[in-house]
Amino acid sequence: MGSRWQKAQELSAARGIDALLITPGADLRYLTGYEALPLERLTCLVLPSEGDPTLVVPALERAAAVASGVDVTVASWNETDDPFALVASLVGDAATIGIDDHMWAARVFALGAALPGADQVLGGSIVSELRIRKDADEAQALREAGVFIDRVHERMGEWLRPGRTEREVGTDIAAAILVEHATCDFVIVGSGPNGASPHHELSDRVIQEGDPVLVDIGGTTPAGYCSDSTRNYLAGGSVPAEYAEFYAVLETAQTAQREHARPGVTAESVDAVGRHIIADAGYGDLFMHRTGHGIGQETHEEPYIVAGNDLVLTEGMAFSIEPGIYVEGHFGARIEDIAICTADGLEVLNNTPRELVIL
Ligand code: ZN
Ligand code: ZN
Ligand code: ZN
Repeated sequence: MGSRWQKAQELSAARGIDALLITPGADLRYLTGYEALPLERLTCLVLPSEGDPTLVVPALERAAAVASGVDVTVASWNETDDPFALVASLVGDAATIGIDDHMWAARVFALGAALPGADQVLGGSIVSELRIRKDADEAQALREAGVFIDRVHERMGEWLRPGRTEREVGTDIAAAILVEHATCDFVIVGSGPNGASPHHELSDRVIQEGDPVLVDIGGTTPAGYCSDSTRNYLAGGSVPAEYAEFYAVLETAQTAQREHARPGVTAESVDAVGRHIIADAGYGDLFMHRTGHGIGQETHEEPYIVAGNDLVLTEGMAFSIEPGIYVEGHFGARIEDIAICTADGLEVLNNTPRELVIL
């Protein structure tokens, strides 16, 4: 991990940040490999822009931190010590402190009180600038995550059928996700009208014959990388005509976006390519969310594939392409793949059929 925190030090120095303070979460895991529990007791990586970093941990977590293989000095504090004073002593006379974006507000204030002479700035962009480009090992981990979640989608016919509730189907899906992943992060089974709510999860609605069903699922692999893929199924019966019409438009839009996304184009252009197709077909108002989000050790991270983001995509960036069309009260559909920019193109990591799958 040394090369990661060293890069963060270089970026901090270039941005005028004298020290980064990082509490448990994906940034800490990315920089040190330590998956710290988000406890009330303070764990904090003190990463000066020059010199050696120190991981401050409660004494009772010391063994776990060391066992995780961190390659930084571990300093522990005892139950009645003031951990903020310890952090302050390690920070020294740094004038500008970068705080991780997800640090608890109570800690931000406590650090402010312990370091009255320092300016606090948000430091999250330093780490996200590193995390946004996946190295070869991370790309491989995401590729595996894609294979894992594809296998779950391939088994949908075992569970999804008329007469069962979304919750019953979702419980089976969750169990299947756990066979290959370390955690099941979310299961969305949106049957019939519930498909029109993009983040609908599970209800006790009984799936009817002829219901289009939107299934969006994801987990985190043992290597710590996330999967996320949406497919659309028809539970018996025949395809409603209105649905078939918009589904064809959605497929065209998502295909165009996959063909467009590659190094050198902007994030917002990927969104625009699909949005134009959907709007031209008259469904523009029904595609009410961005096209996608970055993915890695978190399901949602940078880069966001959204209008207004003129970030130029480069090799190693991984993100979802997931346009959707939602007709309130009737049904919705979304097609979602995770993809990663290669040196000169796009590798799509989800490869189950994108057409409406009739079970
Ligand atoms: Zn989402
Ligand atoms: Zn997604
Ligand atoms: Zn999703």
